[in-house]
Amino acid sequence: IDKINRAVEEGRPFWSFEYFPPKTTAGVQNLFERMERMYNLGPEFVDITWNAGGTSSDLTSELVATAQSVYGLETCMHLTCTNMPKEKIDIALKAAKACGNQNILALRGDPPRGQENWVSCDNGFAYASDLVAYIREQYGDYFSIGVAGYPEGHLDSTSKQEDFKWLKYKVEQGADFIVTQLFYDTGLFLDWVKECRDYGITVPIVPGIMPIQNFGGFTRMTTLCKTFVPEEIRNELEPIKEDDQAVKDFGVKLAVKMCKTMQAAGINGFHFYTLNLEKSTRLILEGLEFVASRENVRQLPWNPSLSKKRE
Ligand code: FAD
Repeated sequence: IDKINRAVEEGRPFWSFEYFPPKTTAGVQNLFERMERMYNLGPEFVDITWNAGGTSSDLTSELVATAQSVYGLETCMHLTCTNMPKEKIDIALKAAKACGNQNILALRGDPPRGQENWVSCDNGFAYASDLVAYIREQYGDYFSIGVAGYPEGHLDSTSKQEDFKWLKYKVEQGADFIVTQLFYDTGLFLDWVKECRDYGITVPIVPGIMPIQNFGGFTRMTTLCKTFVPEEIRNELEPIKEDDQAVKDFGVKLAVKMCKTMQAAGINGFHFYTLNLEKSTRLILEGLEFVASRENVRQLPWNPSLSKKRE
């Protein structure tokens, strides 16, 4: 949060990258190589997701430790309540602290695969707000805590008002910042931010941007999350949906356009769901002139990575 606040005070853009734990050893090695290269794109921080249900939670802790203490990346560990009794939460938080990690994205999590409704486990938490309160109670201000926000409303919510109420409650329990669910309607996001402010939610809100990588993945993800896809985007994708490269190029152009619109409305920090891929995120940052393009290498004033020397 100190880094986000500093960027806001200095009036410079900032960006962060999200990665998930790969399924194979080779995938882990590839991710490390990618993270090392993407360090040079100057993210303010990187996130490592948590597998609700727990199958790769040890790997999340390991990835966090390596990103934080080996690659020197400011790392934010996601932590969910799904199937996590307090004892397991304690182990994860202790491991995060031991490697110098100071950032947690506190989440409830989704139901494990095959289970329809979310239920808390014995000696576990029912909502992300409980986890936020617990981290604050146990660790004071040691951790900076982020929480999830949903510009289109959370799928379990019965009303928008209820969503705002619980989002505000998460902040009151000690959350420092909000990272949003993916969206493709920038106007809808900007209206939601205004409503959050009107509701008295004052902490930084960082939009989650998922570059479109291929048509199948995009359709799956937007169906799963019930994301609204504006007609204009559907029309542009339809004729190119079989051409992966054209879809990727469109995804980059769209994300640049979305970020520019948000910047014009005063949003200056962006969280990229990288899907563990490098190229689209790099091209978007180049398109926004946040980092110098490979063809046109020049120092941009706000990009810390270009002047930072790796130790
Ligand atoms: P909560 O804030 O607990 O909200 C869940 C629902 O309960 C909402 O409908 C809310 O309105 C309601 N609610 C909240 N508090 C109360 C209360 N006290 N009383 C009654 N109702 C309440 N999932 C993963 O498994 N791993 C990840 O790493 C991960 N990362 C994510 C990152 C981001 C930025 C986002 C947006 C989502 C992520 N998710 C992840 C998905 C997330 O776990 C799901 O969306 C989950 O369904 C809700 O989590 P939450 O923390 O928002 O829940």
